[in-house]
Amino acid sequence: MKKIISLILAVLMICATLMAFASCGKKEDTLVMATNAAFPPYEYKEGDSFKGIDVEIAQAIAEKLGKKLEIADVEFGSIIGGVQEGKYDFGMAGMTVTEKRLESVNFSTTYATGIQVIIVADGSAIESLDSIFVFDENGDPTGLQNPEIKVGVQQDTTGDIYCSDDITNWGLNDVEEDGTITTDRVVRYKTGAEAVAALKSGKVDCVIIDNEPAKSFVAANEGIHILEGDNEYAIEDYAICVAKENTALLEQINKALAELTEDGTIGKIIEKYIPTSN
Ligand code: GLN
Repeated sequence: MKKIISLILAVLMICATLMAFASCGKKEDTLVMATNAAFPPYEYKEGDSFKGIDVEIAQAIAEKLGKKLEIADVEFGSIIGGVQEGKYDFGMAGMTVTEKRLESVNFSTTYATGIQVIIVADGSAIESLDSIFVFDENGDPTGLQNPEIKVGVQQDTTGDIYCSDDITNWGLNDVEEDGTITTDRVVRYKTGAEAVAALKSGKVDCVIIDNEPAKSFVAANEGIHILEGDNEYAIEDYAICVAKENTALLEQINKALAELTEDGTIGKIIEKYIPTSN
């Protein structure tokens, strides 16, 4: 009997040890970054290797922290949940700081600015924000010039979140008070590249997306352009997200970011991918 009890105890101990390892899920000397590598020049793939501003900044942070960097390439919409669950140490994906996201995760200090811009096909009837919205005398949108408009976005990004809102909040939809969308004019794609392909084939009238990937998509595709001038949809801050309870890592990341800004490393990385920026 004693033997059986000690056997059971031994098995239990082994299980507990294994579970402790499994719940950590990660190696001590490694930092796992979750990203969506379809967002040039912040993150993209060249063959099997990850490139981009976020990748290089994350690498520099990991070096400062004396850790190896591992990259998990996942859907944009699953980054925050994965960080909350502790599957990834942090998320870095040209991610905009929003009030809503701050309810789920903490954000580092911001390291870049993003602008939501509008991409259209050459010759499009959409030439400015005025060709999308009807404005009142205060400059607030009250309706749409073309109620049939279809706008492509990358699912779960701020472009999607803004456009999926009510017209009076600069969204494109008819939304009931409880948030139900009655007329959905937004078409959501897994990647910006798919949204751009839909624009080229005439499935959507424009694409609303962050400016730097927009420039990359326009450079790689004939027959489309970004609306210039005062037609920005939103201006936002990019930052790294970390689980709420992981304040130690957040502090380390913020310290590393400050040092890397101070010594010019971040400036150099951004300049490498976005020349002429300052
Ligand atoms: N900046 C946008 C957001 O945070 C888009 C980011 C992305 O697609 N990687 O939602």
